[in-house]
Amino acid sequence: MSPEDSYDIVVVGAGPAGSTAATYAARAGASVLLVDRKKDIGVPLQCGGFLPHHETLQELVPSAQLPYTLEEYPSSCVHTTTTLQRFIAPNGQSKQFEVDADVLNRRQFDKYLAREATRCGAQLMVGTNVLEVNGNSLIVDGVFGKHTIDAKVLIGADGPNSIVGRTKGLVRDPDPMGTGTAFEYELSGVDVDREAVEMYFGKDYVPGGYAWIISQGGDTANIGVGIREVLFKTGMCARDYLDRFMYEHPIASEKLKSGSIVSVVSGLVPVGGAPRRTATMDTLIAGDAAGHIIATNGGGISTAMVGGKIAGETAVDSLNGTCKLTEYDLRWREQMGLEIKTAAYARKLMDNLMRSDSMMSAAIKMISPEHMKAVQCGRLPDTVKKGLIKLNFGTR
Ligand SMILES: Cc1cc2nc3c(=O)[nH]c(=O)nc-3n(C[C@H](O)[C@H](O)[C@H](O)COP(=O)(O)OP(=O)(O)OC[C@H]3O[C@@H](n4cnc5c(N)ncnc54)[C@H](O)[C@@H]3O)c2cc1C
Repeated sequence: MSPEDSYDIVVVGAGPAGSTAATYAARAGASVLLVDRKKDIGVPLQCGGFLPHHETLQELVPSAQLPYTLEEYPSSCVHTTTTLQRFIAPNGQSKQFEVDADVLNRRQFDKYLAREATRCGAQLMVGTNVLEVNGNSLIVDGVFGKHTIDAKVLIGADGPNSIVGRTKGLVRDPDPMGTGTAFEYELSGVDVDREAVEMYFGKDYVPGGYAWIISQGGDTANIGVGIREVLFKTGMCARDYLDRFMYEHPIASEKLKSGSIVSVVSGLVPVGGAPRRTATMDTLIAGDAAGHIIATNGGGISTAMVGGKIAGETAVDSLNGTCKLTEYDLRWREQMGLEIKTAAYARKLMDNLMRSDSMMSAAIKMISPEHMKAVQCGRLPDTVKKGLIKLNFGTR
């Protein structure tokens, strides 16, 4: 394919944020180009695929207008469904609450979202890397050759290391505690609980984070660690921690150690909260690029899509002259700013707790399942906030 020289809107990144932005912009009549360096959308995989159902998501971000693609995806995008989320404390005690969620096949889901964008009229250019951003011009290179493409509005949905966000001065190098490293194996030949997503805590296994076991149905599961490099012991890497969890954890290893690793997945998770500005006069950033993620659990699929939808809509509104592009900042913060900010704050409180296994076990024991669910969703009820602060600083 040969791209046009210019478009109303160019979206960089065909992940959940970018494809959703392109869908909503194209639906509203704009000429849209969606560019991704991946030759095969959704591959390599960089996700556990845990996505609560539409109604639960609406509880998670009550003010957000969820994109229709969060409700209407084909069954081929779903590995399995789960009904429970279980927390396993460092001392082995567990607590669980009900949650209706899908375990997505992200390879299929991302393809579905990109196809949806093209169905709405966007042009998709795969295998194409954005090398440079000069004002409103992009220099791209890849399987369809080298091109310079102009955009009236640029949307950077290009993930945690956003070239768009950096070039436009919207994102800077994050503080090391604000970036998680996620490392994951897809396993076959394991016998794990198919009804529950499990989250394990403990500083020797998952410094500054947690490990997960997510059944994909049958005898397959993905397991992973979401941890902070700055807290690693000298000489350890993320894979070492995942191996330790898989082969040595007193509870998990019994279910996992005989599994075969059929794929390895890794990526960064921006858990430092959103940058102060996510818009300029000609550019928006959305999804991981804009910190649209629930920092307490690293879940970012739904928030990326909400951010993408608002970015696509705001871009078109600004081209139609009904708002300034910079109104985007206000729009997405009205819909999910509180949850994203609170989750980043809760994560900081949890960081201190996670330095001590006994404190973490005490916190899991103290908090009710309902409150735990609220914290997961980026809400911090007063009782939990007081409790966490008390545990962090001790009683005076
Ligand atoms: C291992 C792991 C497990 C996770 N598990 C879960 C989970 O279970 N549930 C959940 O909700 N969230 C999970 N997340 C987080 C979730 O995957 C992200 O929040 C989500 O993918 C963000 O979507 P996005 O569209 O903003 O970014 P991405 O999905 O990262 O998409 C960005 C796209 O931009 C493209 N791109 C980047 N730079 C360029 C460039 N210069 N030129 C062209 N293209 C470019 C990339 O190829 C990519 O396709 C996980 C993350 C990781 C790393």
